[in-house]
Amino acid sequence: MTAKGFTLIEIMIALTIIALVSLIAVPNITHGIRTAKATACIKNQENIDAACQLWALTTGADSSDVPSINALCPMYIRKWPTCEGKPYVPPAPDSRTVCPNEYPEHNRDATGG
Ligand SMILES: [Zn+2]
Repeated sequence: MTAKGFTLIEIMIALTIIALVSLIAVPNITHGIRTAKATACIKNQENIDAACQLWALTTGADSSDVPSINALCPMYIRKWPTCEGKPYVPPAPDSRTVCPNEYPEHNRDATGG
């Protein structure tokens, strides 16, 4: 009679290998996701700054005037971006947009961007 299926030792070895692989892969994947979110946030901030400056040039607004989201969207920026669901606050044309969640890795000055 031949035995069917796997022995307990074989199953435990397979589970150990899966655990070791996930131990290596999961931190790398989460780091990649965090880096991608930070890059997207910084690019959103740059796009909003560009839209504000374009708005100021087009309307002749003063450098301290703060545009509303409705003034910028969809004329100067197609869709108002968010960082993890939180919308950005439009800055005055002479200042910079910041991350609405205030994550330090989304700070352009900290990352040199
Ligand atoms: Zn952000």
